[in-house]
Amino acid sequence: MSELAYKRTNVYEQADEKTLKAIFDYAKGYSSFVDEGKTEREACAYALKVAEGKGYKPFEFGQKLSAGDKVYYNNRGKNLYLIKMGTADVAKEGVRIIVAHIDSPRLDLKQVPLYEEDGIALAKTHYYGGIRKYQWATIPLALHGSVVKRNGEVIDVVVGEEETDPVFYISDLLPHLAAKQNAKPHGEAMGGEDLNIWLGNIPYKAATEDKDNTVKENLLRILHEKYGLEEADFLSAELSLVPAMKARDVGFDRGLIAAYGQDDRVCAYPAYTALLDETDDRRTVMVVLADKEEIGSEGATGMQCALFGDLLAEIASSVGVSSAALRAKSRCLSADVNAAFDPNFKDVCDPLNSTYLSCGAGLTKFTGARGKSGSNDASAEFVGEIRKIFDENGVVWQTGELGKVDVGGGGTVAKYIANLNIDTIDIGVPVASMHSPYEVTSKADLYETYLAFRAFIR
Ligand code: MN
Ligand code: MN
Repeated sequence: MSELAYKRTNVYEQADEKTLKAIFDYAKGYSSFVDEGKTEREACAYALKVAEGKGYKPFEFGQKLSAGDKVYYNNRGKNLYLIKMGTADVAKEGVRIIVAHIDSPRLDLKQVPLYEEDGIALAKTHYYGGIRKYQWATIPLALHGSVVKRNGEVIDVVVGEEETDPVFYISDLLPHLAAKQNAKPHGEAMGGEDLNIWLGNIPYKAATEDKDNTVKENLLRILHEKYGLEEADFLSAELSLVPAMKARDVGFDRGLIAAYGQDDRVCAYPAYTALLDETDDRRTVMVVLADKEEIGSEGATGMQCALFGDLLAEIASSVGVSSAALRAKSRCLSADVNAAFDPNFKDVCDPLNSTYLSCGAGLTKFTGARGKSGSNDASAEFVGEIRKIFDENGVVWQTGELGKVDVGGGGTVAKYIANLNIDTIDIGVPVASMHSPYEVTSKADLYETYLAFRAFIR
């Protein structure tokens, strides 16, 4: 084919030894981030600690920001804003914004979760985000979260991550007795009320009044002894079951990486490291690690919260322009994942318009469903601007839609930001088995996405 034709580039195919080493080294740091930050609270705390190490200080509303300032806003421990004030004229250039989310699909404990049935202590869950329920049975699960006790004391819980920890479990039928379940439509194999977690099986031996709930009684006594908890403390708790698996390399060549919650920590990591690694201090940059994307970006820690606009307004007033004028000049990358083309499931994707593993950062002009419904659909002009930045900086990138037209679809935070009159486009790492307990990405794409963010904020 002539040079006039468009062709995707495979990152590994063209990488020299030095680049390969950089790709693999970068993935190591990423692995510890995903392993230590399995919930939005943990990911927020992890990134915050690194930012503090780089000199970022807490921001207070009303504080005047000036060139060289590096500040953060920790929103309820679940949503982090990092702001670096540049030396260039912010009023003229606007803010370069990158938003990624740090919440991922999981199973949350209900507020009254504990019960005993047939000699097993269990917990009821309510899933968070879009999951294929059957995938969460018969895998090791870890319990993460926070409990606020009656006296206001907060107990942070992580059980199931150490090799010596117990894990938690959802059962499924043996094939011998699954004929009826097998005949159900795939999506109905397990219902939301079937995702009940096994917590214990040893009865409490000493005499109690409740002879029927001795296993639950034993569990309550363990929880009290270990954490000082009583059953009512679950009322004011946020406890989640997440896969207990750690990030691992995939394949003999180790080019891919499997981990839980890569949507969207695989974009959150390059977003905040791009900012913290940047030594050029010209641009004003904001990196947001958002919560609640998986359930529609609602609430006080999601991107629909007024806080995002409020913080931009604080920057605007610091440099003496209106918030509207600042937003009009600002640019945003909505850093979120796209579906990687999967040879096992070719039929759901258009091979021309899909993102492929190891072919670089995936730019997505529009998301949405059916006739682009629910998408911000970035303009050709803005795509052109971004394309120029990436090409001039040698970033390997590709483009793709989330599946074939009319097969499905999805959304990101992009539209909420674009609604504020900020040019916004989706870009991120292609993910295979998205929203499953163990998702797969390419180390090469992770690294190219990092390079893309570096180029965008420079
Ligand atoms: Mn996402
Ligand atoms: Mn998602």
